[in-house]
Amino acid sequence: MDTFFPKFSKKRDGVNVIMEQKLLTSVSNLILNGQTCTGCGICAESCPEEAISLGLVGAVRRGVVDYAEPINIDEKKCSYCGVCVVMCPFNSLTLKVDGEEALPIIEREGFPEYDMVTKIDQDKCVRCTICEDVCPRDAISREVPAFEGTVDGALEKQSVLAAKTTFTVDDEKCTRCGICSELCPAIDVKRKPFSAEFGAVVGDVVWDEKLCDACQVCVEACPEEAITVERTVESAKLAGKVEIIEENCCTCRWCDINCPAEAITVEKIFEGDIEFNAEKCPSGCSTCVEVCPANAIYLPTPKAAKDMKGEIEPVIAVNKDFCILCGACVNACPGEDIITLTRTNIRVKGKETDLFLRIKDKLCTPRTSMVKEAAKDEVELKMMETA
Ligand code: SF4
Ligand code: SF4
Ligand code: SF4
Ligand code: SF4
Ligand code: SF4
Ligand code: SF4
Ligand code: SF4
Repeated sequence: MDTFFPKFSKKRDGVNVIMEQKLLTSVSNLILNGQTCTGCGICAESCPEEAISLGLVGAVRRGVVDYAEPINIDEKKCSYCGVCVVMCPFNSLTLKVDGEEALPIIEREGFPEYDMVTKIDQDKCVRCTICEDVCPRDAISREVPAFEGTVDGALEKQSVLAAKTTFTVDDEKCTRCGICSELCPAIDVKRKPFSAEFGAVVGDVVWDEKLCDACQVCVEACPEEAITVERTVESAKLAGKVEIIEENCCTCRWCDINCPAEAITVEKIFEGDIEFNAEKCPSGCSTCVEVCPANAIYLPTPKAAKDMKGEIEPVIAVNKDFCILCGACVNACPGEDIITLTRTNIRVKGKETDLFLRIKDKLCTPRTSMVKEAAKDEVELKMMETA
């Protein structure tokens, strides 16, 4: 029996790929979520052991190969340090030591973490549905009660209102006809016993504010126009809470830019620039559109010929407001020098260690698209000369 340590293994479990290092005293696992991994390659550039290589992310999206994880991790080269876990902007990696989540690099020598700014001002938020819908990463948690007509047992629409309603009946006009009380349980026409003394129908119209939703039906139905109902709404804010799930958020700012209440503040973790050289892009590939985790790339809507005025229409474009400079499109694009990406800064908190500064240097090296096969199932990138 083989009793030598360390022992290594790699296995697939659903969407996860699990790398394992077994020592005599402990077991470490590095787990890649192949579904949320975008192929941005930040982990590959960050790994101090060069244990990670980029997979065929573009080829998978283009349908050239059936399936491959966006990255390959060599379970034997990996030192199970956790640097890649900290650096992954999509939270696609987890490191466990003896079954518990751990980050040995931070425990041993320290390492900074992304300085995420993802805030929703609850006073300003009106609990609409925009941020939840625009978010490309399922990073919005919208806990707002359901209202009638959507699910069984849901709240009445009226319950959202904090309002004051007043109901007045003009005694001179009201004939105590009883129509309003027939229509609405909030009204009771209490007639006095008929007496020859008065020779008329007399009594009171009694109203219960708790049962009234100010629908105005009584006002419209009263044949004598004797009723007035007025409502002052103090607040119509939906109950509940809308929050950003930071571990899913990639700081793309879709929510922040589109929030109608200006309630969201998101700051991107990378600063820099991206350019698309659209004239070099063969139309129709759209791999970058498919891989972009921030929904920042688009195929421009074709203009009518009369509006072109001699211009050449771009076939691909990026909206820089939403680009997070992750690099996934650069890694996946099969065309040379079509996409160029330059990061100039990484927002982190904590001490910027020598290891981090080396990684930052690599990540801030400008790069351009040109995927080429390096080995089976791996790709290599074209880095640009730094000035
Ligand atoms: Fe590389 Fe450390 Fe990640 Fe292993 S845990 S792949 S050594 S960064
Ligand atoms: Fe995937 Fe990028 Fe995270 Fe690496 S850093 S695991 S390539 S998403
Ligand atoms: Fe709507 Fe803004 Fe609140 Fe999101 S944060 S629910 S977009 S108001
Ligand atoms: Fe979602 Fe982007 Fe907003 Fe994060 S910044 S919550 S990923 S829309
Ligand atoms: Fe009834 Fe509507 Fe009149 Fe209120 S306003 S008393 S709910 S009919
Ligand atoms: Fe394809 Fe690259 Fe053009 Fe995007 S930029 S459509 S990935 S060739
Ligand atoms: Fe990442 Fe920006 Fe490219 Fe989208 S456009 S894949 S966010 S670098």
